[in-house]
Amino acid sequence: MAMALGAAAAREQICAALTAIDAAHQVLRETSSDLVGNDFRVEVAERLEFQDRINRGLMYRIFGELADPPDGNGSIAAVRAALWKRLRITPREITRRCRLAARIRGRRSLTGADIAPELPALAAAVESGAVGEDHIRAVCQAVDVLPAVVPPAEITAAEQALVEHATRVDSGVVAKLGQRIVDHLNPDGLFSDQDRARRRGLTLGRQGPDGMSKLSGLLDPQARAYFEAVAAAVRPGRHLPDGPEERDERSPAQRCHDALKLGMATAISSGKLGTHRGHPVTVVVATTLAELNQAAHAAIDPAIAMPPPAHTGGGSRLPMRDLIAMAANTICYLAVFDDHTKRPLYLGRQKRIATAEQRLICYARDRGCTQPNCLAPGYHCEVHHANPWARGGHTNANNLYFACGPHHTDTTDGHQQTIVTTTGRLGWTDGTTPPHINHAHHPEELLHGNPDPPDDEAA
Ligand SMILES: [Zn+2]
Repeated sequence: MAMALGAAAAREQICAALTAIDAAHQVLRETSSDLVGNDFRVEVAERLEFQDRINRGLMYRIFGELADPPDGNGSIAAVRAALWKRLRITPREITRRCRLAARIRGRRSLTGADIAPELPALAAAVESGAVGEDHIRAVCQAVDVLPAVVPPAEITAAEQALVEHATRVDSGVVAKLGQRIVDHLNPDGLFSDQDRARRRGLTLGRQGPDGMSKLSGLLDPQARAYFEAVAAAVRPGRHLPDGPEERDERSPAQRCHDALKLGMATAISSGKLGTHRGHPVTVVVATTLAELNQAAHAAIDPAIAMPPPAHTGGGSRLPMRDLIAMAANTICYLAVFDDHTKRPLYLGRQKRIATAEQRLICYARDRGCTQPNCLAPGYHCEVHHANPWARGGHTNANNLYFACGPHHTDTTDGHQQTIVTTTGRLGWTDGTTPPHINHAHHPEELLHGNPDPPDDEAA
């Protein structure tokens, strides 16, 4: 258990220990291991692995304390932003570490009594450096698939057995043992509604270079029933992608895919999904007049090249041929922009709504959050006034930019200032550096020389 010290003494002791480790690392880096022999190298590898695990244990302790400080309340949003910036780890990894830390960390209740961690055996093994990241994953996966009917004492026994093995064998063996324990504790595969609700989930993978995306996950029985019904409608010869004259040569898997697409397209065109930030829920695709024109000609003349893909509000690429097909079915919200002014020339079939039009300009120009290096796509963004209302800003398209929720908050609480650059983009600064624009949604800008040309700086 950690030693109790006053704040100043604790900070001093922690800094001194970290400095000593840095100094020792420096010695290790500078000492040649060319002549030490392989027996010795194995020993060194073992000790490095152990130290790495000790380090992870300390990291989880700090993440647990950051997320739920024992010495008061902090703003978790500010902490997450600081971790993202200084550790350069993804928001998803920050969430993962905080969640795991919460499961392996003891806490003090309001009455002052100690509350044991959810996974006490794993907690002790992580703290002592006995297990690594892959062991932790294997133990958690096995425990997490146990249904709610398994009594808590059995779950604790399973956790103890797995952790005990994790200190002696590799994580692959632990994962197999975990599967056997699960089969043993739940031989009939009994799952309650609560288990199913906990395990349901779909993950849409990254869009590949070919434009395709992997979908994986578990459907609950209701979702499967809907899916089956739509899949039955897409039986051979029905709902063919290129019309009824075509011969149906689709595989069952391809018809299943088309059923999912049909179900979602029908849901969107029903108009019953409500509104999202001022737009009826729909697919937003932004392109320019020149590219649309080129695509229309390319569709009938093979000598003309297809322009590059358009961008959806979700941050994905949509080939122009698909865009034209979707627009013909009135499902998608096509926004066409003038090539130079980025002003909308055509706004689909939707009634013109001031706020919707302004968002569309942001989709075309910003594509996503404008804060440098933020990857949040347009669907996740709020509209930010470059000149805040308080200082006389107007709801004018030249004055409105995309910012995701957390980054929008950074501007309203004064952590960040924004300035419109001479190129009409939004520059961000914390006041200590010149304003920078976000190139993350404009990869073409990252590839051509200086990623932040002086032209981008504030006027
Ligand atoms: Zn952002």
